[in-house]
Amino acid sequence: MQNHHLKEHLYKILVIGDLGVGKTSIIKRYVHQNFSPNDDRHFICHAVCSDSFSSAGQERFGNMMRVYYREAMGAFIVFDVTRPSTFETVTKWKEDLDAKLSLSNSKHVAAVLLANKCDQGRDVLTNNGIKMEQFCQENGFVGWFETSAKENINIDEAAHCLVKHIIANE
Ligand code: GDP
Repeated sequence: MQNHHLKEHLYKILVIGDLGVGKTSIIKRYVHQNFSPNDDRHFICHAVCSDSFSSAGQERFGNMMRVYYREAMGAFIVFDVTRPSTFETVTKWKEDLDAKLSLSNSKHVAAVLLANKCDQGRDVLTNNGIKMEQFCQENGFVGWFETSAKENINIDEAAHCLVKHIIANE
């Protein structure tokens, strides 16, 4: 009786970013840590990966992306703090996401930025003097987290933040 009012939610979440930033590891970490038959929220995660935006093959890639993006409610865009080039593509991933996907109320889907592999240091963030809060505001991210799929740092917190914003958008 006490669970009578609980609703089960199923959301498709995208995990996007360059090759090798840790998308698969983040998904594995999240799914394994959170698996519980009594959990009232469940996720389908789709890892969308690409290591280039080269114009050759872009059309084919673009069409594939539409299929992956369809009906997603939120996204993590991931970069690797040890590789500046993976941060440089974050804005392209975000533009691509917003171009291909919007909610029925024509809002953009909630997107959270993940600075992954923080167990390796934070070179990209400190060397470039990037103001992350400002970067998130300017580029339409609802938040950002330094994460480590390896050490299980901030994965749950980031997921919680994304879910909170998905629910607020509904
Ligand atoms: P994907 O291509 O984005 O799916 O990246 P993977 O999940 O396959 O990870 C690429 C490599 O980075 C693998 O060798 C992972 O073990 C490693 N990796 C992923 N996340 C972390 C992390 O948080 N810290 C460290 N040190 N390595 C990680």
